[in-house]
Amino acid sequence: MVTTETINKIKMEQATGRVYNFNAGPAALPVSVLEQARDEMLNFGGSGMSVLELSHRSKHFEDILNRAEADLRTLFKIPSNYKILFLQGGNSLQFAMLPMNFRAPEASADYVQTGSWSKKAIGESEKLGKVRLAATTGKNIYIPSQAELDLDPQAAYLHFTANETIEGIEWATEPTPPPNVFLACDTSSNLGSRPLDVSKYGIIYAGVQKNLGPAGVTIVILREDLLERVPPKLPAMLDYKNLAEGKSLYNTPPCYSIYVVGLVLRWLIDLGGVEEIARQNATKATTLYQLIDSSGGFYKGVARPDSRSRMNVTFRLGTEELEKQFAKQATAQGLEGLKGHRSVGGLRASIYNAVSLEAVEVLAQFMKEFQRING
Ligand SMILES: *Cc1c(COP(=O)(O)O)cnc(C)c1O
Repeated sequence: MVTTETINKIKMEQATGRVYNFNAGPAALPVSVLEQARDEMLNFGGSGMSVLELSHRSKHFEDILNRAEADLRTLFKIPSNYKILFLQGGNSLQFAMLPMNFRAPEASADYVQTGSWSKKAIGESEKLGKVRLAATTGKNIYIPSQAELDLDPQAAYLHFTANETIEGIEWATEPTPPPNVFLACDTSSNLGSRPLDVSKYGIIYAGVQKNLGPAGVTIVILREDLLERVPPKLPAMLDYKNLAEGKSLYNTPPCYSIYVVGLVLRWLIDLGGVEEIARQNATKATTLYQLIDSSGGFYKGVARPDSRSRMNVTFRLGTEELEKQFAKQATAQGLEGLKGHRSVGGLRASIYNAVSLEAVEVLAQFMKEFQRING
């Protein structure tokens, strides 16, 4: 049972047939972005065509691509010596491309193992060469401190996962690598959610389907001078140098996904940029964590409190049966996507940029009622 107020809110949402979307990725997009995409569907910018039909070599698409890149530079104050690439293959392909391009055959790369996605990155890297663990958190769910890192001053790079989407932990700030080692970061599930000092990194990669758009594009931001390290004779599609020279147009890019990313970036700028969205994201996360912490143990946070993610709030209930009931009843009330990742179970609320504070408040209300009835 939920309050009348909540029911009315839910009914209003359902009047348009839309649910509160807590999916982990692909995930919620701003409604205004979806509306604009709808309005421009048949005739984009007077072209007489849909973006789905435009040539990727057309002036129209060139404008879409240039503007998305320029907006990304503005949002993150990306220095001019960094290249921005819009690639395919997801983050999962970046796990392999990174070592192929930037780890010489005799060299080793440092990885921080904090959870499921960093393990995947390490697994791919190990197939191709030497990996060293700068830290591993084992079965514990937290972000290690700088002092806990065992860093190799000769490493090709130091890789970490900015936000572990499955476990629900996030680095508050990036680790500091040894002097001549560059930082490589999988920032798929928090890029765009807060300010970021790009100049601290050698390479950042992020699939956009969490905070910045639909599935199909991976944004890679990389320091230009690193391109000199790319070995010769890599397959063209796996070669950062080739892809950078092609300015994301070496082959046909995912045009429509890039277009939607452009709309989302515009939305973010209009809203006040990453500083403003970071403020909103903090409020949303605090709302849920406070509820969990004040539930007298009914809800148990999965992550160590100092490492909690602002993007993926993971929690458990006393029994798996109760968790099943929670997810089922939430869905019935228009709260979608709360089941934890199939590999770890439990519950997870993904509260990316486009998930409104209102959605989080409705979820909090549902959680209180669920506890009142089952606690
Ligand atoms: C979603 C996600 C991935 C996987 O991305 P794909 O685009 O499916 O390859 C990798 N790392 C993190 C941190 C993620 O959140």
